[in-house]
Amino acid sequence: MVYVDREACKGCGICIALCPVDVLAFSGALNQRGVAYPEVVAAERCTGCQNCVVYCPDFAVVVTGEPAPEPDAREARLDSACC
Ligand code: SF4
Ligand code: SF4
Repeated sequence: MVYVDREACKGCGICIALCPVDVLAFSGALNQRGVAYPEVVAAERCTGCQNCVVYCPDFAVVVTGEPAPEPDAREARLDSACC
C-alpha cells in the first residue's frame, strides 16, 4: 500500500518522477496550504522499491504491506501525539 500524507507534501513531484512504474500522479486537488499533492493511481503496480519514500524531502510517503490508515484514525493519532 502506498500512502501520501497530503498535508505534509510540498508538491515537488519527486515521488512521481522517480516511481519507475507510474504509481503516483498529481491529483489535481490542493491541500490546506494550497499545494498540489500526488495521489495513488495504480497501487497494483507498486513493486515496493521505496524510491518514493527515500527521496521524498518531507517524509510524506509511506509504502507498507499494511492497508493505509483511515484519515480519521490518522488524525486521532496525530492529535494524541501533540503536546
Ligand atoms: S515503492 Fe517504488 S514502485 Fe511503489 S510507488 Fe514508490 S517508487 Fe513507485
Ligand atoms: S516527493 Fe514528497 S513532497 Fe514531493 S510531491 Fe512527493 S509526497 Fe510531495
